[in-house]
Amino acid sequence: MESTLRRTWAEIDLDALAHNYHTLHRRIGPGVKFLGVVKADAYGHGAIEVSRTLEELGADYLAVSSIDEAMELREHGIAMPILILGYTPPDQVERLIKLHITQAVTSIEAAEAYSAEAVRCGGTLQIHIKVDTGMSRLGFLCAGAQFDACVAEICDVCRLPGLASEGIFTHFAVSDEGDEESRAYTQGQFDLFCRCIEAVEAKLEHPFALRHCANTGAVAQWPQTYLDMVRPGLLLYGCGEFAGELGLRPVMTLKTTVSTVKTYPQDTSISYGRRYVTPRQTRIGVVPYGYADGFFRSLSNNCSLLTAHGPAPVRGRICMDMCMIDLTDLPGVNAGDEVEVFGVRNSVNDLAAAANTIPYELLTSVRKRVLRVYLRSGAEIGRELLLRL
Ligand SMILES: *Cc1c(COP(=O)(O)O)cnc(C)c1O
Repeated sequence: MESTLRRTWAEIDLDALAHNYHTLHRRIGPGVKFLGVVKADAYGHGAIEVSRTLEELGADYLAVSSIDEAMELREHGIAMPILILGYTPPDQVERLIKLHITQAVTSIEAAEAYSAEAVRCGGTLQIHIKVDTGMSRLGFLCAGAQFDACVAEICDVCRLPGLASEGIFTHFAVSDEGDEESRAYTQGQFDLFCRCIEAVEAKLEHPFALRHCANTGAVAQWPQTYLDMVRPGLLLYGCGEFAGELGLRPVMTLKTTVSTVKTYPQDTSISYGRRYVTPRQTRIGVVPYGYADGFFRSLSNNCSLLTAHGPAPVRGRICMDMCMIDLTDLPGVNAGDEVEVFGVRNSVNDLAAAANTIPYELLTSVRKRVLRVYLRSGAEIGRELLLRL
């Protein structure tokens, strides 16, 4: 069923996505491949439409977090290479092979289990080996005394039957920071990664086709880390601290509407808990955007939404499905008018800062009941409401 409701919706500007892709592609140069990170439903933008657009634009690879996310893309006709960054149980190897999905391998135990399964079903699983150079999350630990053992293990993985080691990668912990200590840490991670690759390649006959490590922070600040492929997420969506200086545009604009407007006398308390009391006669609008849509309740009394006539402060506690905004100084705003929560005019970076979090969390918090409206050349080309209608 298709919703025609314009309650609260996210406009996904696929032209902005294309602009960001081309801008980043010019930055990395023709010799470097481009992997677009589309995990978590493409950071809340809708993984299918975003992936379709990236495929048309000529991106080389996609990355998701799980086999479920990878299968969603295959089932909707995405044919390009997909890398699963997270863990997949070995009993899914046959499916990975059949669907041409590449799996990250983060330990010798997992590699052996994948290999046994691949041999059993008579296929070859494409893998990218994950090296832990200082993120301390997934991957083969290669710092300090573990270096030689790590190199030996990775060589063992590459020699296992049924596995094709197409790539090797690592992940930076502070590539988006600019202070001396962080820069030294990132340089250390990169140097260790390069030493590890060099040692492994020296022992094996074949070099890795795809060596990659550059996430958003590194694409913006560390051109020397691009290697064979870059792996940005947030930049692609035109958000975060580097997007502006790189000339990127926000892809998502989250909009809602003023549903009713009422004027209250001075000393009226607004919403649950009575945490806002009108200091004067106050004109309050109700907008259908609450914490069950992805708003952060911690932003109660602590942020503004943008109307056509200027910012309207949120007053009182944010409720599950609604919140209240102050229109006293915005007499031109009336019931039915559009309000931007974040996006092209009201930066998600500012709202994230007010919520004491990062734009990633606000983007990925936009809930399934918020309609996604896909725009191309200013016209709507599709919409998705992810409810079980
Ligand atoms: C999420 C993720 C990325 C993308 O990170 P951004 O900061 O959004 O660019 C890249 N690589 C890995 C392994 C990730 O998990």
